[in-house]
Amino acid sequence: MRNEKGQFVKGNKGELHPQWLGDKVGYMSLHKWIANNFKKPKQCQKCGTSVAKRFEWANLGTYNRDRKNWLYLCVTCHHHLDRLSVKLTESKVKRIRELYSSGVSQYKIARIYNIHQGNVSYIVRRKTWQYVN
Ligand SMILES: [Zn+2]
Repeated sequence: MRNEKGQFVKGNKGELHPQWLGDKVGYMSLHKWIANNFKKPKQCQKCGTSVAKRFEWANLGTYNRDRKNWLYLCVTCHHHLDRLSVKLTESKVKRIRELYSSGVSQYKIARIYNIHQGNVSYIVRRKTWQYVN
């Protein structure tokens, strides 16, 4: 394989691959890149289990190669996160943080938005939706 200068390049990983499109990289190849390049934690980053059948990289809303936009989760937590991200929008996330900083309890917020209190905790501590101000 050659790069644009005609030099031979080794392998098919990394930035010299002809399919490499930086942050515009497609969803599937981005997932592949993530799996190949991020160091895998030993446990689910949400519930801490290390014995799940399967672990997956979960994206937190911005598809790029920034490690902070990804969580390594067991399948169960990944499903929960996906359900959460369907229910919530940026404006709801902003509102949740406003409510919390004005003193409304996480429990109350969870009831209002019909989400799990743990998810409220993740939102206000910016473990999810970090890119929303
Ligand atoms: Zn988990």
